[in-house]
Amino acid sequence: MKRSSCRICGSSDLDQVVHYKKAPRNIERLLESAFLVNDKPIELYVYQCRTCSHVQLLDQLEDEYYEEYLMSHSHVKKMQQFQQKQATDFLQHFGLKDGYFFEAGCGDGQFSIILKDQGCRVLANEPSAKARKACEEKGLKTVGGYLGRGAFPDMREIFDAVVARQVLEHVPDPIDFVAGMREILKEGGVGLIEVPSLEQAIENNRFFDFFPDHLSYFSSSVLTNLFSRNMFEVIRLRRAMDGEYNEVWVKKALKPDLGNIQEAAHSIVGAFREFLGREHAVGRKTAIWGAGAKGVLTLSMVDTGSVAYLIDLDPVKKGRYTPVSHLQVSSPDRLLSDPVDTVIITALAYKDEITRDLRSKYLFKGKIAYLTGGKILED
Ligand SMILES: [Zn+2]
Repeated sequence: MKRSSCRICGSSDLDQVVHYKKAPRNIERLLESAFLVNDKPIELYVYQCRTCSHVQLLDQLEDEYYEEYLMSHSHVKKMQQFQQKQATDFLQHFGLKDGYFFEAGCGDGQFSIILKDQGCRVLANEPSAKARKACEEKGLKTVGGYLGRGAFPDMREIFDAVVARQVLEHVPDPIDFVAGMREILKEGGVGLIEVPSLEQAIENNRFFDFFPDHLSYFSSSVLTNLFSRNMFEVIRLRRAMDGEYNEVWVKKALKPDLGNIQEAAHSIVGAFREFLGREHAVGRKTAIWGAGAKGVLTLSMVDTGSVAYLIDLDPVKKGRYTPVSHLQVSSPDRLLSDPVDTVIITALAYKDEITRDLRSKYLFKGKIAYLTGGKILED
């Protein structure tokens, strides 16, 4: 089974950029002699998305692929030192000394152990039962499954940080993975993501960096875009481990909350009615200043029955009518020939300038009010 669209942007405009006639089905399993008879090469096709430039395979892995997977480089001394410093830098930068971590695809658990040794609480996540067992033997708490949307419903917003080292390149749906991260992270929670660097492969003609186990080959820009387009702020990006890896630190971004917008649109109707009604009741005439977008929209929502007239400085608008409310636009000079007692300013960006002009140029002595949110405020 092959997919036909980009894993990152969904575009089906894909270019085949690399083709190997012979490659192993996977590169992490060396075979026992009994399996040799059935072992055949596969063809490897690498594609690049013309829309977002993401480099990827279109093949789908079998579901149980990672059940038996156990990959580890953490016995190498250089790797141990690298991980130690990587963890320390991350913890110090975000002040996470006693934070609660979720490590996705933790492998043999070496990085989780480093975090734990520094005082963090860690939940080590591995789909492979074999790897989980190895982790548990080291004293780690583990959980199976794959991080994604709705994957851990009882762990919503409980973690301070998610770590995914050398994981995202294996993930069939990176957008879903990022959504899963967002779900389990607390507000303001952070992530450390490390993937093999596409730049490293290209700079050194490393044809051997492309193989069936890696579904995605992240450049720094695709990696940062993946997070910044999916509600994360990218805090830091670097090439790590002699340029082998692209590493990003990300922070969960707040979702803009529009709840009060609906409320304001609702309450402006009553606020306008009340304000104009009060003025009208004591025999005061009210004009509106501002036939721009904000004014036109607001006037279309409210009852303008007791508005004396509408003014705007723009000579192009003079004599024209507002849609829906059908108020004709006059020039501000009308204030001199047909005075009012009250002016409501809807052109908020020019509020101070208009107020100054009203007082000095048009010698207006009455009440100045202005539109804001769902209210009419008096100056
Ligand atoms: Zn794409």
